[in-house]
Amino acid sequence: MIKCPLCEGKSRKYWSDRLYKVYRCDSCLLSFISPVPADQESIYGKEYFTRWYIERYSARKAYTRRIISPIFKNARKGGRLLDVGCGIGILLEVAGEAGFEAYGQDTSGFAVGYTLKKGLRAFPGQLDEAGFSPCSFDIVTIFDVIAHIPDPAACLETCSRLLKPGGILAVKTPLHAGRLFAISEALSFTGKGRSLLHLPAQIFHFCPETFMVISGKLGLETVRGFCVREPGFIDSKDFKVSALAMLERLLSGRSSIIIMKKRK
Ligand SMILES: [Zn+2]
Repeated sequence: MIKCPLCEGKSRKYWSDRLYKVYRCDSCLLSFISPVPADQESIYGKEYFTRWYIERYSARKAYTRRIISPIFKNARKGGRLLDVGCGIGILLEVAGEAGFEAYGQDTSGFAVGYTLKKGLRAFPGQLDEAGFSPCSFDIVTIFDVIAHIPDPAACLETCSRLLKPGGILAVKTPLHAGRLFAISEALSFTGKGRSLLHLPAQIFHFCPETFMVISGKLGLETVRGFCVREPGFIDSKDFKVSALAMLERLLSGRSSIIIMKKRK
């Protein structure tokens, strides 16, 4: 038994292969990998951002514009927005075009360099080193990042601290159904099952119930939660990757977006 890193509840083994195990908390339903792979940050360099973002820039931007509109509807127009883990700045660009004063942060020097070259504002390094003032943002977004951060509770606490009273915290993270864990485990003998769950890069798997626990701990009010389909970029150069990507899209390929509000 390993204690849940979020609520310290009891957890049990939920998935395993030759190298890794995933445990699931009985109380908040957070799933987490063990052992946590070292050197996560080296994954997110030039090759990663070029393949998954720069080569798909316009499709990514259109997708971001579509999924972020319900969040903008809940926020004060023209306010200050912070995108945590901003990557190459696609969300910052969309937010700027929608009239927000947008700031980003990312630990990838390559991604922040790319963002700055576009004339956008981004800080390279850890969020708590960026020097942002408490209670200074109307919206904090954290898209496809929280599942990869070793201490998600501390990160969300920092996000909450940076929000103005009444401000919005919006989190997007993959939503992997229980059956995907079962299929992934059954495929583990092929050595490819892990990639269906984005393991080991994805340290945590969140459920809507997990966010209820998080919002309660942070004194936030959950405004809305909804599911979005991933754009399903298939890499046709590699059939094996394509087949897995199609299988994942068929079985899951969904993310949840949770909108929480800081109490006034
Ligand atoms: Zn828990």
